[in-house]
Amino acid sequence: MENGRNINGLRSIRNRILIFSILVTLVPSIGMGWFWYDMTHRATTEKIEQKFVDLAAIVEREISLWLKECRYDLRVFANSFIVLDNLQAYYVDSGKTDPAGEKREDPHLQNIVTYLTLIKGQFPAYRRLVVLDRDGRMLAASDSQDSDRSIVLPDDWQGQVDRSHYVSGEVVFAGDDAIPLLPVGIPLYAPDKSVHLGFLVVEVELGNLQPLLRAAVPLTSGVQGIVALLTMDGRTVQAAASPEGGAGQSITLSQVAKLAETPRRLGRIVNGDQVRLVGLVSRFSELPWQLVIAENADDVFAGLLQARNRIILITVLLTIAIGGTAMIMAGQIIIPLESLTDGVLRVADGDLDVAVPVHRKDELGLVSGMFNEMVGRLKDNQAKLEQLATTDPLTGLANRKQIMADLAFHREYHRRYGTDFSILMMDIDYFKQVNDSYGHLAGDAVLVQLAQIFRDTLRILDCAGRYGGEEFLVILGKTESHQAVQVAERLRLSVAQHVFVHENLSLRATISVGVTGMRAEDGSTDLIDRADKALYEAKTGGRNRVVLG
Ligand code: GH3
Ligand code: MG
Ligand code: MG
Repeated sequence: MENGRNINGLRSIRNRILIFSILVTLVPSIGMGWFWYDMTHRATTEKIEQKFVDLAAIVEREISLWLKECRYDLRVFANSFIVLDNLQAYYVDSGKTDPAGEKREDPHLQNIVTYLTLIKGQFPAYRRLVVLDRDGRMLAASDSQDSDRSIVLPDDWQGQVDRSHYVSGEVVFAGDDAIPLLPVGIPLYAPDKSVHLGFLVVEVELGNLQPLLRAAVPLTSGVQGIVALLTMDGRTVQAAASPEGGAGQSITLSQVAKLAETPRRLGRIVNGDQVRLVGLVSRFSELPWQLVIAENADDVFAGLLQARNRIILITVLLTIAIGGTAMIMAGQIIIPLESLTDGVLRVADGDLDVAVPVHRKDELGLVSGMFNEMVGRLKDNQAKLEQLATTDPLTGLANRKQIMADLAFHREYHRRYGTDFSILMMDIDYFKQVNDSYGHLAGDAVLVQLAQIFRDTLRILDCAGRYGGEEFLVILGKTESHQAVQVAERLRLSVAQHVFVHENLSLRATISVGVTGMRAEDGSTDLIDRADKALYEAKTGGRNRVVLG
């Protein structure tokens, strides 16, 4: 019966306890860990986003101030009577000549050129100062290498002037080194403000914004950051990075476009150097510019990732520890349970020599102890039953069934190994008279005491059994017939000399014995038949004697 001896997989209590304990550890750990990570990640993102938005606001304000200073300078330059008077005089003169003609030779414009060149000399950041006429045509320009490059005012210049009293154009990248320049202009009016004379435009070098941007580069310790000022079409006006030439500088137009999809919201990009960045784009209200602020994402979230890894490690260790504890606990239940199961199966197989170890004082220990007790009782009962089935209740000797089984065993042993044995068939002489004279109980007492004489006289190898009412069969193991005769004689003598006692009676009895030894040619009944005949001869020969058959 091998049923259920090997319980594996999910059917095993040990595995179920293990899986349950791992789930009980993992589910809350992962749940809480995820909750914490999500919350912290959100909080960190919001913090960074707020920081970038604040930085962008500072940069925009600074640039606004810087622009205001430019306009202030411009207004001072424009209010000079040199510009206004000469311009007015030029218009008066030009009315007489062809406007498209010799205007560069015009002495009034020459005066303005000289003036503009002078200013440029004093303010190197103003790369070029230009005076335009009412239609935007260039009248005079500071002496500069690229004086021929035209200046294009935006189409809605009038609107701009109405709104903010100045005009700003598209950033131009001038010269071989493509220095970014911002054209800023103000309208020029006659001193009485009645006539619009044209524009004074200055191209401001934007390199001056560099320190301003650098001051705004997000500088968490060890973090690579970038602040870049871009035109709306993505050309870099100015950029600053930390460390110098750091990862942020390789932000491409498409990456900016991606960030610009959600202005002022933190986004994630991977730059050209395969560095992951978090950043945002903020658009300026005053100028058509956008500001990109970005930081190395790994650095920003390094603390968070470290904490996350620590949580994972703790969860793994916790799972191992709890799983191990569960295994030990499961073992404490499973091992006694397995012993019990094993014991039960052995009892079911008919083996009552089972004792389950009882090491513990818990429920399993109790069950194991009770199981052992039950098996002990079963064993006792079985032994009693066996005894009843094989023993004669009056004499305590083997009953006829048992002595015949013993005889069959001896015959088989003889057949196999050739071992000699002999039998004695005995009958009490005139036993009927004992019963008749002293009563049946006295007869019983004689039978009991006779059995005791057999037990006292015979060897351990020999078997004595009650063959019939007052007939006994004795098997003498490893005994040849002539030795058997001697044993029979000894028995006969012992009986004859014995005083049988029943209550206050003393009785005498004798036995007749038929002796025979096992022979090779004997069939199944030959031996008994021979012994019977010898007994008969002993009876007819006068009783109280031994006859060899
Ligand atoms: P013999 O010498 O020829 O053997 O004479 P006997 O009187 O012994 O004759 P027999 O062997 O035929 O007698 C058997 C008697 O044994 C009959 C019966 O009353 C008696 N007997 C058989 N079994 C028991 C028993 O268990 N108890 C008692 N008290 N007597 C028994
Ligand atoms: Mg008899
Ligand atoms: Mg008899």
